[in-house]
Amino acid sequence: MNSLKIQITKNENKREKVPADQLIFGRTFTDHMFIADYTEGIGWHDHRIVPYQPITLDPSATILHYGQTVFEGMKAYLSQDGVVRLFRPEENMKRMNHSCDRMSMPKINEDLALEALKELITVDREWVPSEPGTSLYIRPFMIATEAHLGVSASLTYSFIIIMSPVGSYYKEGIHPVKILVESEYVRAVAGGTGTAKTAGNYASSLKAQEVADREGYSQVLWLDGIERKYIEEVGSMNVFFKIDGQVVTPALNGSILDGITRKSIIQLLKHWDVPVVERKVSMEEIREAHRTGKLDEAFGTGTAAVISPIGEFRWQGELFYVNNGETGDLSKKLYNSLTGIQKGTMEDPFGWVVELN
Ligand SMILES: *Cc1c(COP(=O)(O)O)cnc(C)c1O
Repeated sequence: MNSLKIQITKNENKREKVPADQLIFGRTFTDHMFIADYTEGIGWHDHRIVPYQPITLDPSATILHYGQTVFEGMKAYLSQDGVVRLFRPEENMKRMNHSCDRMSMPKINEDLALEALKELITVDREWVPSEPGTSLYIRPFMIATEAHLGVSASLTYSFIIIMSPVGSYYKEGIHPVKILVESEYVRAVAGGTGTAKTAGNYASSLKAQEVADREGYSQVLWLDGIERKYIEEVGSMNVFFKIDGQVVTPALNGSILDGITRKSIIQLLKHWDVPVVERKVSMEEIREAHRTGKLDEAFGTGTAAVISPIGEFRWQGELFYVNNGETGDLSKKLYNSLTGIQKGTMEDPFGWVVELN
């Protein structure tokens, strides 16, 4: 995006709002969306906000055959004081460009993309829910649109932002989930696309999730692709353990996604003087910590749930319960602090929050 003149076409047929307690994640969308197009040699052009609508693609478009696409996931919060807040949105735009680079896609101008997002939220402001626990989920994404079956980077792209009001992730309060440790399928390997938010990573994860669903587990825990020994992530969240008073999380190793919630939690823990380390963590170590009573807590982290406490792991037929299947104190404190900062009810010592007037 070279310069930002956004043309706005208002939706004359407003979509029906769904009551906050009936919202299902990612099913309801706001009245408008943002689009910009890219053409090799010209750059980004035709920035526009238009009524939410289907998009037209040539059947030979690169995205449909070779999956050249990236996405982001972020949220806007509306609190009692009537202010809409974004949480570290510049980090999402930065990561989108990291993903674009890996997928041979053009970069966005991060500042202009953020400006476009703010404009879109302003147009659809009445869609930001205010009930406790609710938020507006924001999905920026880019697709390769060139009509051409050759395996090469597309010469044209669209960058689109859609938005979806979402209900509380924890309708009955924060509660732990059961996790199945996956020893056959892998999510990513170093050198692959694991650090990019790109469609193929998620398509290839569905198979393991099917097995987990069937066996009554809510997510899978991914192990490294070479030895199936070291812990990588849990579902599409990063993962943390509290072992003998120290917090550990797998170090970014070229296959783990660099989560913004992960990064924020590490900063918060350091701020609180809670020992936290990024290093390799093996399933053997978790088994040993469990056996000796030192596995205090475990939790996943990501934009959707913020903190998802883990109450049980199953690994090769063995069961490990964590904290008697209950939410640990640190998990609770992290959840309350992060959501408090996001909603503006707690002090933001790091300057993470961007307010919209
Ligand atoms: C998006 C995502 C995360 C979490 O990232 P956040 O920035 O914290 O939302 C973790 N792992 C995977 C695979 C993801 O796609």
